[in-house]
Amino acid sequence: MAVTHLQCRACKAQYELDARYVCERCFGPLEAAFDHSRLGGDVGELRRRIQGGPQNMWRYADFLPTVEGPPGPSGRLASRVGLPAGCTPLIRADRLAQRLGLREVWVKNDAANPTHSFKDRVVSVAAARARELGFGVLACASTGNLANAVAAHGAALGLETYVLIPADLEEQKILATGVYGARVVAVQGGYDEVNRLCTEISAEREWAFVNINLRPYYAEGSKTLAFEIAEQLGWELPDRCVVPIASGSLYTKLAKGFEEWRQLGLLEGELPRMNGAQAQGCAPVANAFAAGQEVCRPVKPDTIAKSLAIGTPADGPYALDLARASGGAVDSVTEEEIREGIALLAQTTGIFTETAGGVTTAVLAKLAARGDIDPSERVVLLITGEGLKTLDAVRGTFETTVIEPSFEAFEAFEARVHAPAAARAR
Ligand SMILES: *Cc1c(COP(=O)(O)O)cnc(C)c1O
Ligand SMILES: [Zn+2]
Repeated sequence: MAVTHLQCRACKAQYELDARYVCERCFGPLEAAFDHSRLGGDVGELRRRIQGGPQNMWRYADFLPTVEGPPGPSGRLASRVGLPAGCTPLIRADRLAQRLGLREVWVKNDAANPTHSFKDRVVSVAAARARELGFGVLACASTGNLANAVAAHGAALGLETYVLIPADLEEQKILATGVYGARVVAVQGGYDEVNRLCTEISAEREWAFVNINLRPYYAEGSKTLAFEIAEQLGWELPDRCVVPIASGSLYTKLAKGFEEWRQLGLLEGELPRMNGAQAQGCAPVANAFAAGQEVCRPVKPDTIAKSLAIGTPADGPYALDLARASGGAVDSVTEEEIREGIALLAQTTGIFTETAGGVTTAVLAKLAARGDIDPSERVVLLITGEGLKTLDAVRGTFETTVIEPSFEAFEAFEARVHAPAAARAR
């Protein structure tokens, strides 16, 4: 394994690979550090090893911060096998591209994960590490999708689960959590209050909070999205990625994944331009980007994109750095644009996304309309969650006609909606 230690992002102090997330010296965030020379082999061998791995995100185990090897045929390393995530489709979306006046757009559909969001990736790594460290309880502070993933992965691994959510969460997400037998605690407040409470609990209980004391492990799981995109593009980098931002973890780790493989020689060329996407109702990073600030001012979220509703993004400053360094940007879109984004994606690709995907699709449309994207660019649009979890966002956006069960009634309906076509059929 290439992972070596945890390291403070700010002062570079080093720590053992245990359940901690904040630097004792400067209170900076800790991050997993790797020595890839430990992997041995040239580029060809590394690629063959990846390609010979399982058809899930554990094919990238060499680049993840768990210390056991990849799952063997004997099932020896069960912690890697619980509920395999990843290897989701990367689909070329020509009809979407055409609609936006672009040439090459790919949709990475991470709704095609076991609990229908990209959170299965981060929870896979955190849960595997929690087992390695001997924890019996898996927990989280969630904006919704994380609750589903923690509950499901905990169930698959036989861990007890506690899930804390804002009380006003979408019913679909609450139901798709409780079904796994999780203890669901609805907190009166937004995500930021839930997170504060969980930080307090984590100091009092010996629990593995995937996005608090196990955050350094959790965060690395997002890199597997970068690895997959590159592998699916034939070991090439895209020119641009459009990525949703809540805490900024996915956005920054996606770039870390591309960069690690570039340094290893597995990929060549420039890092993609990284475009962050937020809802205007919760846009601390987009606001800071627009104002040219280094840090985000906290906001009180008010948006249908609840999975992105974090008013105090932990990785905000790093997200701002990345947007500027990569030649990208962070944009925000209105509630109406989010709904239009959901419809545009559904009607041009057949993919039904939750509100977070409406945010990224709307930001892509905005960049295209603004002329920010060169026609020659290969763009990857990240879809991180499933539309069936946020049904309210599409309620009332179209009509269903009720008819009598007779052919005459059907013809009458047809004449009303498709008058010219019905005439032609006669
Ligand atoms: C959690 C989440 C994200 C991004 O979260 P980060 O905290 O920025 O890593 C994006 N999309 C969906 C659907 C999510 O649930
Ligand atoms: Zn430090």
